[in-house]
Amino acid sequence: PETPSSSGSDSSRPPVKTGEERLMVAVRIRPLKADELGRCLYALNKKNVIIEDSEKSVRNQGRRGTDKQYSFDVVFGEESTQEEVYAVTTSSLVKDVLNGYNGTVFAYGATGAGKTHTMVGDPHKPGIMVRALNDIFQAVRENEDEYSVTMSYLELYNEQIRDLLNPSSGYLELREDSRGRNIQVAGLSEISTTSTEEVMTLLQKGNKARTVEPTAMNKTSSRSHALLSVTVRHAIPIDKTDHLRMKVKQGRLFMIDLAGSERANKTKNRGKRLQEGGHINRSLLALGNCINALSGGARYVNYRDSKLTRLLKDALGGNCKTVMIAHVSPSCFQKDESKNTLVYADRANNISTKAEINSLDVSYHVSQYQNVITELRDEINRL
Ligand code: ADP
Ligand code: MG
Repeated sequence: PETPSSSGSDSSRPPVKTGEERLMVAVRIRPLKADELGRCLYALNKKNVIIEDSEKSVRNQGRRGTDKQYSFDVVFGEESTQEEVYAVTTSSLVKDVLNGYNGTVFAYGATGAGKTHTMVGDPHKPGIMVRALNDIFQAVRENEDEYSVTMSYLELYNEQIRDLLNPSSGYLELREDSRGRNIQVAGLSEISTTSTEEVMTLLQKGNKARTVEPTAMNKTSSRSHALLSVTVRHAIPIDKTDHLRMKVKQGRLFMIDLAGSERANKTKNRGKRLQEGGHINRSLLALGNCINALSGGARYVNYRDSKLTRLLKDALGGNCKTVMIAHVSPSCFQKDESKNTLVYADRANNISTKAEINSLDVSYHVSQYQNVITELRDEINRL
């Protein structure tokens, strides 16, 4: 017999409005490490995050009698593979992006919980970023239509934006139109390629350029958010005999490796790093506030509090299909971080977005040029 879920079950979710779609929320539990064995007083097997039946819920063990069960779209256990995580969370999103939708996958969780492993991985176990790009390139190669693929890779560190594909360009500014839409990073390089090898090199170079600061918690702890953006434009002739009239579908896929969500005090941050911790908390705090507001159905959501939420505005409440992968260690030594992450992911369960195909009729622009040509001809005739 199942104990009633404390939260997160389908019945406790608010209804989804017509045309809207729920955020997909996945949880990935990383394998226990050798140095996490032997420290637990109350949890079985040194673990306090345990995958439950049907791989859709986790039990978070607390001290006697304070267990909680959380339900998600999918829970990946310690044995899950990179292929499986990609196939379940991102492969259909890639197809949607090729059809003109916007998509976002973001990895959330404390430092050391496995975010970079999932998003970037290593050459032997490539993560979501590499697999998604591979699938996009393959689809583009196999299709006879006209496609263009561009990518950019940026770091948000200490509330400052750097171009990971061109780190020497310094700090970049966010720009948006007067209605607060169409957010852009001014001066960010957009690289056009369909070569997997070239992309691997670019991503590796970009990852090396990420700001890493050692903390007491994890020697290679990254205090930075990394955002990979891939834009796919697909031009379809409206009329096969008229190549000046094209319909262009444009999809954008954001793949985000967030900074660690742990509290600053746990990592014994001091001085400079404390300030950075504060800024990371500011961005993640703002993200948390947005998630709270969205999951509570608030009419007003404040995206303006941090650069991260300004960049993620569409992904969270707007025109985007969004997947969140929350990462936890099974170790009871990480119990506070795991609990915070599960509570956060549980709230995200209630968020819905409304995705639409981004399509524009290019003949409109061409016709404008045709008008100019006609006017010029008339002018010449008058001479
Ligand atoms: P984060 O980016 O969240 O700080 P990492 O992805 O760097 O965490 O993971 C911390 C360590 O644990 C790394 O050595 C990583 O290779 C390992 N690790 C994380 N997740 C897994 C997993 N699912 N399988 C195997 N090793 C993992
Ligand atoms: Mg990382």
